[in-house]
Amino acid sequence: MATWLESQFSLNGKKALVTGASKGIGAEIAIAMAKAGADIVLVGRSKESLNDTQIAINEIGKKSEILICDVEFRTQISDAFEGIAQLGVDIAVNNAGSISRSPAIETTLEDWDRIINTNLNSVFQISQLCAKSMLERGQGRIINIASLLSFQGGINVPAYTASKHAVAGVTKALANEWGAKGVTVNAIAPGYISTDNTHALRNDPDRNSSILARIPVGRWGTPQDLAATAVFLASPAASYINGEIITVDGGWMGR
Ligand code: NDP
Repeated sequence: MATWLESQFSLNGKKALVTGASKGIGAEIAIAMAKAGADIVLVGRSKESLNDTQIAINEIGKKSEILICDVEFRTQISDAFEGIAQLGVDIAVNNAGSISRSPAIETTLEDWDRIINTNLNSVFQISQLCAKSMLERGQGRIINIASLLSFQGGINVPAYTASKHAVAGVTKALANEWGAKGVTVNAIAPGYISTDNTHALRNDPDRNSSILARIPVGRWGTPQDLAATAVFLASPAASYINGEIITVDGGWMGR
């Protein structure tokens, strides 16, 4: 039998949906949630891209299902999530996100729309679709992946910054509406994490060294540094945490 401590952090018997589960932070969260006992619904743009994550989950001995959609497009989300109520999702992680780097004066409106659709509009739509059955069952967890650019302006990423500020806002708005009905909504704001998203920064010697100089723990983060925080927010231990944006940033925001 599980000890009290084990049961506080266990996701046994739960089903977790993770968007952007093909690589980086999303893949690591999906794998960590499977290790904590959950079956996983992997959301991605193609079956092939989700292959490695699915194999890892199978090796852990948990079940996985796949939903294919490009979250930039509202109709693709509504089509892919049509049967979501029957899947019985207990935990939804809105992780899929994209970044586009250009000075504000050169940012095209097409790029602006792509980033806002992908990083913000999908978060609201998927939260709403998943929350319907969570609210009926009186229990659920929604975890959004925010950013340090939910608090700061960033450099040459105006659409990304706008989207992530809004992700923090919608996290609190949904938390206020759904908390009393058993569905908590929180976000993780990762610091500078070594994934494809930050490839350009790590390859720019000036940006890389100025970023590193500001991180009190003195290194870039890894997806593994975040995964247990997502498990925690999904677990019984976090049942009274609601509307929070938790920074996991090696101390960046404290500087
Ligand atoms: P990656 O580029 O490694 O992964 C991004 C994931 O999102 C991939 O699975 C990708 O799928 C998916 N994705 C992107 N666009 C779409 C789309 N239109 N439809 C469906 N899936 C999509 O980056 P990270 O793991 O770093 O990023 C994950 C999240 O963390 C993002 O929301 C990002 O903004 C956030 N974040 C990252 C930080 C970092 O330092 N790395 C810092 C702060 C926040 P595909 O394989 O199809 O491309």
